[in-house]
Amino acid sequence: MTTVEMVRVAGCDMTSCSYNKENQCHTPGISVGPHAECNTFNYRGNSSGGLQEVIGGVGACIASSCQYNEMLECKAPNIDVGDDQTHADCETYKPRA
Ligand code: SF4
Repeated sequence: MTTVEMVRVAGCDMTSCSYNKENQCHTPGISVGPHAECNTFNYRGNSSGGLQEVIGGVGACIASSCQYNEMLECKAPNIDVGDDQTHADCETYKPRA
């Protein structure tokens, strides 16, 4: 079996998310959707989550139109996630030429 290094979430501006602390994601593997949206976003309300010692990573990404996507996995050096009003978006997304 091969161990694969997970792509890190370098920063995340979605501070209303349960997993966000000080602009950093703290859940091990986010899921990125077909339009490069972070599907793991969960509105915090009263439910804070995540593990302080964990820096977020990309579990899977199905944005196949992204240059960094291979076999529905992210191959970017790392990603940034941004606040797009009602949802969180992968800001590293780069459409294929
Ligand atoms: S950089 Fe591309 S492949 Fe990686 S998580 Fe973002 S949208 Fe998906």
